Amino acid sequence: MNAPRHALLLGLFALVGCATSDTSPETADLLIRGGTIYTGSDAPFVGDVTVTGDRIRSVGPHAAVSAERVIDAAGMIVAPGFIDPHTHMGGDIVSADAAVRLVPNFLMQGVTTAFIGNDGAGDPDVGRVLGSAATRPVGINYAAYVGFGAVREKVVGQADRAPDPAELAGMRTLVADAMCGGALGLSTGLFYAPQSFARTDEVVSLAREAGLRGGVYDSHIRDESSYTIGLAAAVEEAIEIGRQAALPVNISHIKALGVDVHGQAPAIIARIEAAQRAGQKVTADQYPWSASGTSLAAALIPLWAQDGGRLALLARLGDPALAPRLRADIFENLRKRGGAASLLITEGEHKGRTLAQVAASGAEDPVTAAIAVIRIHDPAIASFNQVEADIAAFMRRPWVMTGSDASTGHPRAFGSFARKYAKYVRADRVLTLRQFIDRSSALTADTFRLADRGRLRPGAFADIVIFDPKLYAARATYEQPTLLASGVRTVLVNGVPAVDNGALTGKAAGRALPRTPPPGTCP
Ligand SMILES: [Zn+2]
Repeated sequence: MNAPRHALLLGLFALVGCATSDTSPETADLLIRGGTIYTGSDAPFVGDVTVTGDRIRSVGPHAAVSAERVIDAAGMIVAPGFIDPHTHMGGDIVSADAAVRLVPNFLMQGVTTAFIGNDGAGDPDVGRVLGSAATRPVGINYAAYVGFGAVREKVVGQADRAPDPAELAGMRTLVADAMCGGALGLSTGLFYAPQSFARTDEVVSLAREAGLRGGVYDSHIRDESSYTIGLAAAVEEAIEIGRQAALPVNISHIKALGVDVHGQAPAIIARIEAAQRAGQKVTADQYPWSASGTSLAAALIPLWAQDGGRLALLARLGDPALAPRLRADIFENLRKRGGAASLLITEGEHKGRTLAQVAASGAEDPVTAAIAVIRIHDPAIASFNQVEADIAAFMRRPWVMTGSDASTGHPRAFGSFARKYAKYVRADRVLTLRQFIDRSSALTADTFRLADRGRLRPGAFADIVIFDPKLYAARATYEQPTLLASGVRTVLVNGVPAVDNGALTGKAAGRALPRTPPPGTCP
């Protein structure tokens, strides 16, 4: 900060009697000149943004100020730094390695804030997680959920049973403590064991603790497909938890996964919008990819055959007595996932080929080919299990935010925001640029009540991205998932350039963003 210089300049203005349109000094640390400005909520216009310290000083058609530094943004898009409400990068955020904590994969897409602790995972001691930034600087801002899975494991372990009253009370205390430590709310991943062992009423009683303290319920729902209760019932459960526990619901990475539920997006949307009309707050986030990342065995081998690990699996694959049942189950899983052509092998000997191509080249049926591949090495795969019509239907809804579900091994960690722009704005025109920006920034800040973030407006924190609309795109692919995105010129995090002239600066200016619980709800 330049307080003495500001004071001097103010003195000079007073002496010469300069008229000023506001009371702030007529100099800024940074002037972003002549870009096309999307504020997060307004129609775009060409103009200037000025920054002083960690805050935006002005946003308008023309800033008549001098600045320490001027960035020429002509032809560029200037937007609020993007906010990613669903990631699995909590380990990176608290890593002992300073270079990892810079999280270049986010910065190079213009993401300046990310949430961690999604899907019920993470460290239940959210106060400690949020405190980490004080001694271990981070590249972007972060907020954290308290994860139901983490809480349940701590109290009940892996057991497939309901908690007894003392255990339930212990879990409620952990959630309450985390909320008082600044958690955003309660996240769940009811699809995953041991969270899947919990009944709805158990989740409601914990969600209440979050709701009482101003939190949100964020859920990877119990079934996104046709594995257990089905997609529609799982959405219904999430809405019901929000209704009974009296808190907003956010459905994580909303999708219709697998051939049995393809085409269900309109019905799911209708159900959510009915809940909204009835007065509930229900939103969703979505990643812009039609494939999930898994391994060939995890996708196709039934759980009974995987029990006991790889050696046990290999023994079963070689047991003729089990072959009919095993082949029938693999066949069924292949059907659910859309067939052998929808499984792309992304590592090892068959990298870049689908299971259908591997089968054809060996003149085998896909089940035989899959067993042969898994016997040698279980490769990572991209499983194409969503259809574009469902993706676009969800994406068009004004309550669906951009998210990444960032996790290693899938290009979404390195390219979700950039891909959504390049594919769904520029190429396919599913969204306008303004819709993309608003739903990647202001909508997310509003939904999760992030104070003074998500918009370009005077007084807000200076989290800003400047990108080239001709070049902004993901480079990460299923085969090469860790290529950084292209087209981002400058990223400011709390007023500090984290990306400058298209390159990382190495500056770690992110902050922890604890949620403040309402007065009287915490000791
Ligand atoms: Zn998830």
